[in-house]
Amino acid sequence: MNKESKEFLLDLLSTPSPSGREQELQRKWAGYVGPYADKVETDNAGNVIGIINPDAQFKVLLAGHCDEIGFIINRIDDKGFLYFSKVGYMSPKLAPGMKVEVLGFKGNIIGVIGVKPEHFNEEKDNIDFEDLYIDCGAKNKEEMEQYVRFGDFVVYKREPELLLNDRISGKGLDNKTGAFIAAEVLKNAAGRNPKIGLYCASTAYEETNTQGAFSAGVGIEPDMAIICDVTFATDHPGINRNKHGEVFLEKGPVLGIGPAVNIRINEMLEHTAEKLQMKLQYELYVNSTGTDGDKIRYTGKGVPIALVSLPLRYMHSPVETASIKDIEEEILLLSEFIVSLTGQESLKPLEL
Ligand SMILES: [Zn+2]
Repeated sequence: MNKESKEFLLDLLSTPSPSGREQELQRKWAGYVGPYADKVETDNAGNVIGIINPDAQFKVLLAGHCDEIGFIINRIDDKGFLYFSKVGYMSPKLAPGMKVEVLGFKGNIIGVIGVKPEHFNEEKDNIDFEDLYIDCGAKNKEEMEQYVRFGDFVVYKREPELLLNDRISGKGLDNKTGAFIAAEVLKNAAGRNPKIGLYCASTAYEETNTQGAFSAGVGIEPDMAIICDVTFATDHPGINRNKHGEVFLEKGPVLGIGPAVNIRINEMLEHTAEKLQMKLQYELYVNSTGTDGDKIRYTGKGVPIALVSLPLRYMHSPVETASIKDIEEEILLLSEFIVSLTGQESLKPLEL
């Protein structure tokens, strides 16, 4: 991965974008794709969409959500401690003792999630978020209210770090990596004269209500959509692979199969992978996918979708871990796929 791309990825991972407060990150995403896109648009949901060939009839949407899980302030007590609710699906078990960044109305401030001394032996086994609080160092409510108010967002303060073998760890890899991949595919396709209209979207709200996906589907009316999200890598200790399947780091992009996805797009993706001599992995989606795709497919006349996912360890934790090599492979696969499209493809599972 070249220096410019890697810096952009690290910047996305360091920029807070809790679901519903994606604007700072979206501005950066728009700035990055701007020089390569024919047009960059935003919409009422807070999506940013980089477009190549806006006049082409056949439209392909590549969607990666940029929002991350986080918290939202619901009370400030007399002593100046902050109480919070979760934004998105996450475990309270991981929170005690963590450093956080409170996106206060006057600017970001640092806090810590308080934890009882182990010596007291009083910590409950089944903690919930209502048992936890954030300490920003304020002496009382009046002081805290000068920085933070009801409804301000919070994220874990966690810089991305490189592990051995170009594996990367941090928070929000779900799914800033997907938004990054969409941007890189646009950048690659821009120089290669694609024949279709390419709509690369950094979508908002996936972790809470998927309105971004809905608005992108309705607004763009794509002929097909490919969702770039993360999926569960099951190659670490303690995972039941009989139940959760086999998805490993560095064994190739993961193609969703099953009734929830379109078989024609998958055939084309497999053909592209074959041309590139790239291995693919597979995962099952029976009824729905748990991604932006579930909303996009029910827009317009029904949008055929495919899912190309990045294997991710420790999903929805502050130590999510993925492989840069996997990110690069997915970018390569999708870039080749996009430039191979003619705009004449039929996506009907059955032709008479
Ligand atoms: Zn997620």
